[in-house]
Amino acid sequence: MAALPSLIGLDPQGVTSALVEAGTPEKAARMRLRQLWNWIYVHGARDFGAMSNLAKDFRTQMAEQFTLARPEVVTEQISGDGTRKWLLRTGAGIEFETVYIPEKDRGTLCVSSQVGCTLTCKFCHTGTQKLVRNLTPAEILGQVLIAKDALEDWPSTGPDRKVTNVVMMGMGEPLYNFDNVKAALAIVTDGDGLALSKRRVTLSTAGVVPMIPRAGAEIGSGLAISLHAVRNELRDVIVPINKKYPISELLEACRTYPGASNSRRITFEYVMLKGVNDSLADARELVRLLAGIPAKINLIPFNPWPGAPYECSSWSQIEKFAQIVNDAGYASPVRTPRGRDIMAACGQLKSESVKERASARLAAEKLQSGQLARMPS
Ligand code: SAH
Repeated sequence: MAALPSLIGLDPQGVTSALVEAGTPEKAARMRLRQLWNWIYVHGARDFGAMSNLAKDFRTQMAEQFTLARPEVVTEQISGDGTRKWLLRTGAGIEFETVYIPEKDRGTLCVSSQVGCTLTCKFCHTGTQKLVRNLTPAEILGQVLIAKDALEDWPSTGPDRKVTNVVMMGMGEPLYNFDNVKAALAIVTDGDGLALSKRRVTLSTAGVVPMIPRAGAEIGSGLAISLHAVRNELRDVIVPINKKYPISELLEACRTYPGASNSRRITFEYVMLKGVNDSLADARELVRLLAGIPAKINLIPFNPWPGAPYECSSWSQIEKFAQIVNDAGYASPVRTPRGRDIMAACGQLKSESVKERASARLAAEKLQSGQLARMPS
């Protein structure tokens, strides 16, 4: 049986049109929209049968025509420090990871935007996985729904929410999947949707400069920049997108980012790589480069992965680097690694998914149908 279309990830207009196409009169569709939306995003309903204030006939009709299914959870791992990682699947070879990081005063969900990545940043594990494809709005949002299901974090409007922040810092480059990320985040931040304030949502980019103004104007979330180097010669090597959009252009886009202010600072991420980008001269140059930008600096101890060509800077070097940054007026900048024991920390995410050539896929399907035909019934 072919899978039913999902209502998850559609904007209000999209849901209304889907209902009308499925035979609901336009006026009724518009009325049902708010109720459905409320059940799906405020109460986390996973099936239409539970929607007790909708007529039984309508519920049955909806269940026959649509689905609210989540991505399939392949594995769930829980770190010694409480960090949780889910490997999710939405189709053959479409696997991606989501990480929940609980802290005292907040719970941050780190969401993926693509399966694999095109950027090949040298210190990033995901960067060794070729791009398979962009995730759809339903798949991006599905990560948040899965986490909320697992954490029993419904309704979305409750006072003690567990997912309080969403960061687009999982697998992939969100600004290379702009439309789908925008659609998903619109629902995350909709007051009638998952109802997180835009201040609690952050999009991280390695520096897709032409898309940064659009992100500010159309998504309006917080912005984080994966800077990692203060000289083009080095950034060209470790963050190769720099060859296309060098540091000066990137920082200019930050200077003019809509909505950046002292109360809404841009976060600059800086991974600490031993002997590569961690000299005190680099620290001073970092401070000089960021002058005039409302900025926060996040020093990230390098998280190792099998075969990684770098080591993490020594703790004393990180402290000296941080001191220079602190003295320039940037507070508590070192990010504590979380979930390293389950490979859930920054830059450690990767799935086995590979982009199959159409010919290989066809051959596999043929083989499978042949095997099925031979199976005794
Ligand atoms: N493509 C986007 C979103 C990924 S965010 C971006 O680059 O911003 C993931 C963050 O973790 C980025 O800042 C990335 O540079 C950083 N990172 C990648 N590998 C890492 C590693 N091994 N250790 C620490 N941080 C890493």
